[in-house]
Amino acid sequence: MTIARLLLTLVCFLIFSTQATSQLLNDRFTFDEDLEYSDDIQSPAEFLGYEPGEAYSHHYQLGAYLKHLAESSDRVELVTYGQTYEGRDLWLAIITSEENQSNLEDIRQNNLRLADMDLSESEASGLIENSPAIVWLSYGVHGNEASSAEAAIQAAYRMAAAEDNETSRFRDEAVTIIDPLLNPDGRDRYVTWYKSSRAHMLNTDPVDLEHDEIWPGGRTNHYWFDLNRDWVWLVHPESRGRIAEYQKWMPQVHLDLHEQGFNSNYFTMPGTTPRNEQLPDAYEDWADRFGRGAIEEFDKHQINYATREAFDFFYPGYGSSYPSLMGGIGMLAEQGGHSRGGRAVETEDGYVLTLQQRIFDHYKNSISTVRTAVDNRTELLSYFRETLNPENSKVETEAYILPNNPYDLTYDVIDIMLKQGVEVEQATEDFSLRDATDYREGVSERRSFSEGDFIIRKNQTNHLFVTTLFEPKMAFGDSVMYDMSVWSIPMAYNLDAYYVNDDPSVETSLLTEQPQRDSGVMNASATYAFVIDWNQPNAPKALAELWREDYRVRAAEKEFTIGGRTFSRGTLIVLGGRNYKKRNSMARDMQELAEYAGVMIHGLDTGRMDEGMDLGSRSGMVLHQPKTAMLIDRPFSSYTAGQIWFQFDRNVEYGISRIRSWRLGSVDLSEYDVIILPDMWGSGNFGDSEIETLKQWVRQGGTLVAAEGAAFAMASESMEFVSVGMTGDEENEDDEVEETLPPFTPYDARSDSAGLRNIPGAAFRSHLDTTHPLAFGVKEEIFSLTYNTDQFVPSDDYSVVGYYDDNPSDLLASGYASQENLEQAAGNVFAGVVSMGSGQVVLLSDNTQYRMFWRGPERLMINAVMLVPSM
Ligand SMILES: [Zn+2]
Repeated sequence: MTIARLLLTLVCFLIFSTQATSQLLNDRFTFDEDLEYSDDIQSPAEFLGYEPGEAYSHHYQLGAYLKHLAESSDRVELVTYGQTYEGRDLWLAIITSEENQSNLEDIRQNNLRLADMDLSESEASGLIENSPAIVWLSYGVHGNEASSAEAAIQAAYRMAAAEDNETSRFRDEAVTIIDPLLNPDGRDRYVTWYKSSRAHMLNTDPVDLEHDEIWPGGRTNHYWFDLNRDWVWLVHPESRGRIAEYQKWMPQVHLDLHEQGFNSNYFTMPGTTPRNEQLPDAYEDWADRFGRGAIEEFDKHQINYATREAFDFFYPGYGSSYPSLMGGIGMLAEQGGHSRGGRAVETEDGYVLTLQQRIFDHYKNSISTVRTAVDNRTELLSYFRETLNPENSKVETEAYILPNNPYDLTYDVIDIMLKQGVEVEQATEDFSLRDATDYREGVSERRSFSEGDFIIRKNQTNHLFVTTLFEPKMAFGDSVMYDMSVWSIPMAYNLDAYYVNDDPSVETSLLTEQPQRDSGVMNASATYAFVIDWNQPNAPKALAELWREDYRVRAAEKEFTIGGRTFSRGTLIVLGGRNYKKRNSMARDMQELAEYAGVMIHGLDTGRMDEGMDLGSRSGMVLHQPKTAMLIDRPFSSYTAGQIWFQFDRNVEYGISRIRSWRLGSVDLSEYDVIILPDMWGSGNFGDSEIETLKQWVRQGGTLVAAEGAAFAMASESMEFVSVGMTGDEENEDDEVEETLPPFTPYDARSDSAGLRNIPGAAFRSHLDTTHPLAFGVKEEIFSLTYNTDQFVPSDDYSVVGYYDDNPSDLLASGYASQENLEQAAGNVFAGVVSMGSGQVVLLSDNTQYRMFWRGPERLMINAVMLVPSM
């Protein structure tokens, strides 16, 4: 410990009230202060002016400290890899020896070359012998799990400044990449709230205001998304920036540091089932080895922990699972504490858990992870090379074929693949393949494909990533999961895709640039009308802009054909005669609109169509711009609310008001045409008067869009909002369940048995009535992502728009659902519209844009807001 540091500690003790400080700081949890440290580098406490655990650091303070490290040490390089929505920088601190730093680019390139299968064995073993291991430590993806970023700067200080032999060896034999804070916006939301709520007298009562975070909490990012579900889909700038760096480095070891409830002891590796069966068997041993490395430290310091009983690594979008698909050992750490942890909190057994200890535990695990990596360096590098070798794949499929379709979300999937370092080929000739199996029906037959279609082969470095995402079904031995059970990309994005077990022989070129959808105006000088086919992914964005520009717009309720081209239902029609005052600017406006929204616009010189409705027909539904509100805050899910907000705010670029649920009684609802209720828990805390107000508003012409739990609440007996039958009402489910379960469930099997009755997210083959405006622009067949064991029963009392396949044995496309659940769901309804007075209630009981990657059904929500109110 330096003199300055000693003095500082002393001053801290004098300034802070002894009562508070003595509970906060305990010399049981020190940060290797007995080691020698470089005099040129300040510790976090010296630099920031408070001891670890005394206060939370804001994002800017963490950044300032890392800059100090980079400026005062040749062992540290600080990389800024992006910016959040709220303008905060995202950083990596790359820490290694001075010598390694001077060869960093070579080290990086050599690490990537390790995965090159053309490398000779002797070259490979030379690289393995001489290369450092790449160890990546990620902190704070959940902003209110706030000890981890504090641990990041402690670990960075030790790795950069400690002069002992062991730390020197860490620097020589590893490049340690520290991402101190994956979710700066969420963390600063938490820290700002915490600081504004904290009392002078330390209060460890977990229900005190200081421990009771406000909605929506700091876990999520600006749009209320869980960034620890976004490693694959890259919806957000935090993920996109990080993965670009990750793909450059491809680490052998990745540890993702989190927090869980404050009564839980530390979770360290390995976790529980189910597991991704495609991973090498050796992964399990590695997870165990790293876990035992941490345990050695924890035993020594009497830190309590548990392994194997929680947390699976099945879903590929976690920071603990994605790295394993990229050839590394992906791992999770969960410290007790979380949102309620504060600076200190009393656990159920009367122990005072301090922030200082939470930082200490994570710090110890961070350092021990580097130690285990360095101790096993050559073996880890060999594992990395073996794992990325496609010859070691356990999957039979050789390739996945995506027909080149700019009118669905194929290009969005290609975009993800390119950003994830996947090699995508494009056919340079027409071709046909034997035994090509489609995802919709699972039928294998000879099929023809076209020049320009996309091919993703298994035979590439990222084969584990590709097969995990494209296989129609993932094997799992255990269906009680921590998260969802299905993510097959062609189903999520509702593509007409195929897979084959023979490597396709066809001439191809490697795709190097993201394909762009055509945009522009055909026949821009037209005077009668301009039309925009609603089946284009960006058509809603064009409609929002037309409304902003004060255009009168209609939507075709029927198809029409002219000059051999057929326009689908929902196609937007801008009639020249109805927008006569725009006649001088219309051609230019359409050009700008096509470019802004990324759509094709067709100018037509006549309203007489060859087939189908004429442009001036009564089947042209006049579209009124709906003023739209979404209720948020309890009891609504911030996740679904965030998705819907993101969809309109970022994709459609159509502003909606977000109104806190408890304001409902005081807001003038007549101002709004559409009110969205996101998923909610239970039937909420609506009183009779709020329900009556909403009912009145619907009867007078409002469109209420109720999603997931809110849809069921609308039909519940307690709310009696709409009268739509539910499966739960009809039959006594308990009788059915009893037939297949023992007469009672043993105490220790109860949580598993409950798990088997749930649906942990399953893809159901489903049908849409695409003649209804709610389903305009969508394919007739989709994969609906369901978590519901109850459904709506079809009847003529309302418009049934989306329903599950009626054959229970065909219903499950992927994921897990029990036989009873399949039989109950078959033929029942997840999307419908109920008329009520002059208004209507749209029921969408399955999520329509889950995590913004299950996007196949997303148009249902968009149509509910943009088209249905004008019906
Ligand atoms: Zn977490």
